[in-house]
This record gives sequence, structure tokens and C-alpha cells, in this order.
Amino acid sequence: MLRDAVRSLAEAKIAPYAAAVDEEARFPQEALDALTANDLHAVHVPEEYGGAGADALATVIVIEEVARACASSSLIPAVNKLGSLPVILSGSEELKKKYMTPLAKGDGMFSYCLSEPDAGSDAAGMKTKAVRDGDFWVLNGVKRWITNAGVSEYYTVMAVTDPSKRSKGISAFVVEKSDAGVSFGAPEKKLGIKGSPTREVYLDNVRIPADRMIGAEGTGFATAMKTLDHTRITIAAQALGIAQGALDYAKGYVKERKQFGKPIADFQGIQFMLADMAMKIEAARQLTYAAAAKSERGDSDLTFQGAAAKCFASDVAMEVTTDAVQLLGGYGYTRDYPVERMMRDAKITQIYEGTNQVQRIVMARNLP
Ligand SMILES: Cc1cc2nc3c(=O)[nH]c(=O)nc-3n(C[C@H](O)[C@H](O)[C@H](O)COP(=O)(O)OP(=O)(O)OC[C@H]3O[C@@H](n4cnc5c(N)ncnc54)[C@H](O)[C@@H]3O)c2cc1C
Repeated sequence: MLRDAVRSLAEAKIAPYAAAVDEEARFPQEALDALTANDLHAVHVPEEYGGAGADALATVIVIEEVARACASSSLIPAVNKLGSLPVILSGSEELKKKYMTPLAKGDGMFSYCLSEPDAGSDAAGMKTKAVRDGDFWVLNGVKRWITNAGVSEYYTVMAVTDPSKRSKGISAFVVEKSDAGVSFGAPEKKLGIKGSPTREVYLDNVRIPADRMIGAEGTGFATAMKTLDHTRITIAAQALGIAQGALDYAKGYVKERKQFGKPIADFQGIQFMLADMAMKIEAARQLTYAAAAKSERGDSDLTFQGAAAKCFASDVAMEVTTDAVQLLGGYGYTRDYPVERMMRDAKITQIYEGTNQVQRIVMARNLP
């Protein structure tokens, strides 16, 4: 029922704008409005804070179905979870009440600020600092590649509070867009997910009350990594949705397109490609849903399974979208058809929330 509801909504209110959002590299406001009106913009927020209280699997299905129509738009529910999960996992009850309530209502989105210009895969090498000053912390630094920066009201920011302790000297904070000293860089000009704004976040003597720290001092990096264990599954879902969208489009096209006097769907070479695409997508889906169940239960092998789902599903998305372009021939290579956008959008799923090389490091360290 949830899938049917989100699919109908995405087809009616999100898909019609997907090409324009990509072409104009503009924020998918129509998608945000439609998702918020239907309480789907941050489905993971627990009911006690006014949220929909969706479990990890339901959240995955929402993201998958939105991504099937428009990958950029799927970053609205996905990054709202990424940005706010540190508060849900490690924040005080006061912080949860203060920030989850407006997020659930649709009054403010959440972003996640871990990466920096010189600290990507090696995120613990970050330089952003937070220095204590009485009942306040003062933050200085640059966060890079921040999804929904400038649009979001709230930012989970990881910063060094004790440089002598590397990852154990990192703490997490909630920073608000309206805090004095917060500003944003120009939107990045990207290959894909062009409708999802990616900008630098500048923190220039940002003075915030001490109770905005998420969890205890020095636990920020552990919280950031624990968050990724859960949210990599949402990237797997995004990849899955992009791949399904490409397969569904190609499936229809091959029945219409005629060469050698018959639909190209009649050729076994085409049928075998479609069979492979569907097989890979189904394998990715099973891995992703199993990982979502583990996320919900908090199973001990979640770290392996989340990395495996993200890595596998994103590789599948890249393969399937490339094959979809192939199935449309020259037409697939043009912007008159959606599959080239899907191929460009798929690429990011192999890169963010840890590149697929990093996922393999994570899996190797956590072999079942
Ligand atoms: C569109 C977009 C949105 C993003 N959104 C966010 C966001 O909202 N919040 C956030 O915090 N970050 C975000 N990121 C950042 C993203 O997570 C990083 O780009 C990613 O983790 C890789 O870091 P890097 O770009 O610095 O690459 P690097 O770490 O410099 O890696 C370069 C290459 O080296 C490889 N490599 C690095 N180390 C190793 C190793 N030990 N072994 C093998 N290979 C290795 C990598 O896999 C990669 O292929 C986003 C990025 C993009 C492009």
C-alpha cells in the first residue's frame, strides 16, 4: 500500500518536473511541497515528535519510489534522515524535541556536515574546530559537499574538540542556518543529481549554546559512523529506484521501437539484456531490504550489511542505467529521453556516504 501510494504521488507530482529540475539545475520545490503535504519528507521521525514513525524498511520504500521518478527529489527524505539521525541516535531528549518536531512538521530540513575540502574518505582528518567558551561552543571551519545546504534550516556538524585524540576528539553539534557566522558557497556544478543543491558551509566564529552538542564530548565521530551504518541503506534504496526507473522506461521503449520489421523486444539479444537488468535489480532489492530489517532491529552485522547493500545496489544502478541508454540506441544518448539523466544520477550513488572503495574497506573489516 505504501509503495502504491508513493508511486502514484511520484508519478503525478514529481516525475513531470524531473527533466526540468535536471536541465535547469534547480531545487525540486514541487517535490518538497508534494512530499511535505503527504507527510513523506522525513518519514523516519518517531511519532512522539509528531513524525510518521516509519521503520527503516518503509523509509527505504519511500526513497526508492521517489528515486524511480527523480533521484534529486529522493535526497529530500534521504538527507532529512541522514542529517537528523545523529540527534535521534545520540541527542538529549531536549534536543530531540527541539529539532525533530519542526522537521516532522515540514518547517525545516536537516543536512549532515562531515566532509571537508581535505577530508573525504578520511573524514577523521577534519579541521573544523569547536572551542569551548563558558556555556557556549565557538565553531570555525569549512564543510564541503553538503547536500541541501542553504535550503536546510538545521545542520549536524562534526568538529574537532580535542585535536590530540583524532577520531575520539571529534564532537557533533546542531547548527542552525540563522546562527550568526553561517554562510554558504556557490552551488556545485555537477554531472548528475543537478536538482539537489550541493554547497560548502562556512562556519565563521559560530557561537552556539553548549546544549547543542549531540551526545557527550568526543563521541561525534562514532555517532557519525553509526549514522552511516543506517543511512547507507537509504543510498542503496536510491540506487535501486534509479535502476528500476531506467528498466521500466527501457522495457516500454523496446516494445515500441521497430527495426528489421519488428519490435526490437523480439530480439533475444535485447531480451537477455532486460533479463540481466531485472535480475541484478532484484538481487540489489533483496540485499537492501534485508539490510533495512537489520537496521530496524539493530543487528550486530549491520555495518557489513549496510555497506554491502550500498555498494552492490549502486554498482547495479550504474550498470543498469548504462544498459538502458544502450537499449534506446542513439535516442538514449539525448536529453529527449530520461535514461541519460538516470545514468548521470546513478554515478553519485557509488561516491557519496563513502565511496564504493571505502564500502569495501568497511566490509573487509567486518566480514561476517
Ligand atoms: C553530490 C555530493 C553530495 C554529497 N553530500 C554530502 C553531504 O551531504 N554531507 C557530507 O558530509 N558529505 C557529502 N558528500 C561528500 C562525499 O561523501 C565524499 O565526496 C566522499 O566521501 C569521497 O570523498 P572525496 O570526494 O574527498 O574523495 P577522496 O577521499 O579524495 O577519494 C578519491 C578517490 O580515492 C579513493 N580512496 C580514498 N581512500 C582510499 C583507500 N584507503 N583505499 C582505496 N581507495 C581510496 C576513493 O574511493 C576515490 O575513488 C557529497 C559528495 C557529493 C559529490
